[in-house]
Amino acid sequence: MTPTHPPSDGPQFTRLDGNAAGGPLSEIFGADLTDAVVECGACQQSGPLAETVVELDAHGLVVLCRACEHQLLSYVWFGGVRSVRFHHLAGLILDGSRGSG
Ligand SMILES: [Zn+2]
Repeated sequence: MTPTHPPSDGPQFTRLDGNAAGGPLSEIFGADLTDAVVECGACQQSGPLAETVVELDAHGLVVLCRACEHQLLSYVWFGGVRSVRFHHLAGLILDGSRGSG
């Protein structure tokens, strides 16, 4: 048995790009984060949230680094509870000056 292989009868995640996390995370952060630059603490790559990998199910999502697939952050909602947990997210940069002329 290898713990690295997910069980075939486990929860099935829908794998999307980072745009899928933009809406749910805006509920917490109050801003559209899809243009925000995220920095991975595991591999030091950085890039727009929109270009990360997101695994989504009925009660939450996980944002993964596109380069190394470490978890950057997770956001879970269940009942009235919403929780964000930061894993390998080393930085989150919102540059409000971009695109505003
Ligand atoms: Zn990484």
